[in-house]
Amino acid sequence: MLYLGYCRHCGAGLLGLRRCGQGHLLVLCDECDALWQTSDLGQPPQFPPQPDLPCPHCGQSLNGPTAHWASLDEVRQAGWNDALIVGPGGCSAASAT
Ligand SMILES: [Zn+2]
Ligand SMILES: [Zn+2]
Repeated sequence: MLYLGYCRHCGAGLLGLRRCGQGHLLVLCDECDALWQTSDLGQPPQFPPQPDLPCPHCGQSLNGPTAHWASLDEVRQAGWNDALIVGPGGCSAASAT
């Protein structure tokens, strides 16, 4: 899982790059499910309804079978700055699906 650092909300989770089934890229904490729609983590996070975590763009579940942690190629395709990524994998073996 590519991540942008630790979650400022819960302080424990990693901020993973989550891709919904429609290709929208989001920042999702793998512990508390705080969600950012952009890589601007200075903004307050959203908390999508559990347990489906609908994508704020298209409503598809971020826990659904078509959602996954984004690859580096997918991050670049989405036009995000891959320099923000601080880690591949690491301590989060729990790729929650
Ligand atoms: Zn968190
Ligand atoms: Zn979406």
